[in-house]
Amino acid sequence: MKKLVVNENCIGCGLCISVDEEHFEFDGDLSSAKSNENLDSEALKNAINSCPVGAISIVEEDNNETNK
Ligand code: SF4
Repeated sequence: MKKLVVNENCIGCGLCISVDEEHFEFDGDLSSAKSNENLDSEALKNAINSCPVGAISIVEEDNNETNK
């Protein structure tokens, strides 16, 4: 199963949240992934590409399954 992750490089600029409210929300000053649904959406692609520090990634949660 794939999982959306915001890593510690996040600077809290808010871009991903404004581009894709379905997948991101503020958790304090930083962004937090809030959904693992619909990970193929255009909005999510835009959010990943918009992040100035490359903090957003989609990872395989189950190590036994690496169908990337
Ligand atoms: S766009 Fe990147 S740096 Fe900005 S809030 Fe989202 S994850 Fe953090």
